[in-house]
Amino acid sequence: MPLQIVRKDITTMKVDAIVNAANESLLGGGGVDGAIHRAAGPQLLAECRKLGGCRTGQAKITGGYHLPARYVIHTVGPVWRGGSHGERELLVSAYRNALELAVSHDCHTVAFPLISSGVYGYPKEQALKVAVETIEAFLQKHELTVFLVIFDRASWAVVEELFADIASCTGEGHTDGREKQ
Ligand code: ADP
Repeated sequence: MPLQIVRKDITTMKVDAIVNAANESLLGGGGVDGAIHRAAGPQLLAECRKLGGCRTGQAKITGGYHLPARYVIHTVGPVWRGGSHGERELLVSAYRNALELAVSHDCHTVAFPLISSGVYGYPKEQALKVAVETIEAFLQKHELTVFLVIFDRASWAVVEELFADIASCTGEGHTDGREKQ
């Protein structure tokens, strides 16, 4: 199953790489970033300090330390500023660059949070659509299993709504490789 949408805590995912929705400093923050740093331990921050930050839409890779995942891929999604400031392109670029980095490090399984949909304010439904479309486009050309990891109740409600729409449009349910668990 190349793309699966699951409701979990990303820090528990036993995959080759988990993706962190970081900020440009790469020095830790709240939300999923804070959770990943807490679970990985202080060595993660020590490695991040050497990276010199990361621009929005770009990605950098570190070890996973105490996480079950071998790597953490840090990417920076855009802050939502109304939608006319290149937010979509930057979000697509964040997913794509993280996926490219995963492939270049020989990862076969990768887990993403819903980037930008928390503190950065990207509307959840749009954030979910960008995530699914970008990951699926990438999977047309690469052998990879990707998990989109949903954590909070509000985001999960959006997943259920979006899948209900897909089901009612096609009349076929979830037959395109996406799976809710
Ligand atoms: P951003 O600054 O990119 O918006 P946030 O960390 O604020 O990043 O939120 C991104 C998404 O990550 C939100 O949907 C939030 O619910 C989710 N999230 C927070 N903690 C976790 C976690 N432990 N595992 C997976 N997703 C998480």
